[in-house]
Amino acid sequence: MEKHCHQCGEQMGIYLRTVVFSRQMEIENVPVYTCDECEVYQVLPSVKEHVKALLTQQEETASKHAVDLASENEIAQLLSMAADEQYEHYELNEMVEERINQLLDMLIMAKALHNEEWVKDVEDRLSQLTDHALQAPYL
Ligand SMILES: [Zn+2]
Repeated sequence: MEKHCHQCGEQMGIYLRTVVFSRQMEIENVPVYTCDECEVYQVLPSVKEHVKALLTQQEETASKHAVDLASENEIAQLLSMAADEQYEHYELNEMVEERINQLLDMLIMAKALHNEEWVKDVEDRLSQLTDHALQAPYL
């Protein structure tokens, strides 16, 4: 997850930002790499596709004006939890592991209840945590 700024070479930090994409659309808790030196920023590659999907969805329905990415995306949720001092003693990879276990429990329950919609939601969330760059030492 470590990344250096393409302009000045400084190490970039990850911050959760509210990003305004247009006058109609605003997404909260978007993890972005930010350079403190020259204010270059870049949405985390592992959540980028999800952000794009939310934007497309919004264009199609023209309904939601503000979305909290942390409630939709597992990585954004974990990063926002990690930013909370309540969790300061946890390692992010422990939190990921714990969350995966929680989701697997939910999946078993959802399947037992034959709740298709719930099963799909839990499977989506699991794939967000397992598909991406989670092998990297930082996350
Ligand atoms: Zn820079």
